[in-house]
Amino acid sequence: MSLDAKISFWSCLSRGIRRLCPHCGQAKLFRSFYRLNKKCPHCQEVLEKDPMDTLGLMYISTAFFTGLGFFIMFWLLPLEARWLRIGVASGVVLLIFLTLPFRKALAIALTYYMEKSWR
Ligand SMILES: [Zn+2]
Repeated sequence: MSLDAKISFWSCLSRGIRRLCPHCGQAKLFRSFYRLNKKCPHCQEVLEKDPMDTLGLMYISTAFFTGLGFFIMFWLLPLEARWLRIGVASGVVLLIFLTLPFRKALAIALTYYMEKSWR
């Protein structure tokens, strides 16, 4: 694929969900759980030009999970369900941690799409 070729939004989103390079879709974005490759091993595309580009989506998605946890703990659970709340809080922390590479990959894919389509 040439650098100027347009990629559809859904292809880019699909590659992000599968944690693949948004440019070629052939190589993994991460070399381990959360260690991002600087460049795609297949097409040499720089994967994250500026870490601040993906910070917004990471921040918003973390805030969403945190808000969801607070909603469940303080709206859905009875006041005396102390251990259940601790379980929900632990689950939310675990969810935030385990979804990190997926959210990061999605943020990279969306940033890539915006850069290529708005240029
Ligand atoms: Zn690539």
